[in-house]
Amino acid sequence: MAGEPQADCLFCKIVAGEVPATIVRETETTVAFRDINPQAPTHVLIIPKVHHPDAAALAAAEPQVVADIMREAREVAAGDGVEDTGYRVVFNTGSGAGQTVFHAHLHVLGGRGLQWPPG
Ligand code: IMP
Repeated sequence: MAGEPQADCLFCKIVAGEVPATIVRETETTVAFRDINPQAPTHVLIIPKVHHPDAAALAAAEPQVVADIMREAREVAAGDGVEDTGYRVVFNTGSGAGQTVFHAHLHVLGGRGLQWPPG
């Protein structure tokens, strides 16, 4: 059922504490942890505790959780000291956009100069 934990989902396992992660912050609805393959000095993933395959599905089902994630992005950036220098938030949505883990997640990237357009 939409929103329920999925047995084969890596990020559901991180939410459940079954897979270790470097947790940065946790709220009632979200978990933020460091990306295992960081692309910038700050590279944190913020995920909903509920399972939805991507940001579009999450927004359709539980839009308030998208707002929670965006609020957390600012807290993560402030905590890493990159709020003032600038940071980027990205929801890769679909494999064509580079999504590889199909549990919605927001990338928070900062701590170095970031180019536009992204690759
Ligand atoms: P996507 O390509 O937008 O789906 O991003 C998935 C991200 O998850 C990638 O940046 C991976 O490096 C990251 N990742 C994959 N497995 C783990 C893990 O076990 N812990 C933390 N990050 C992970």
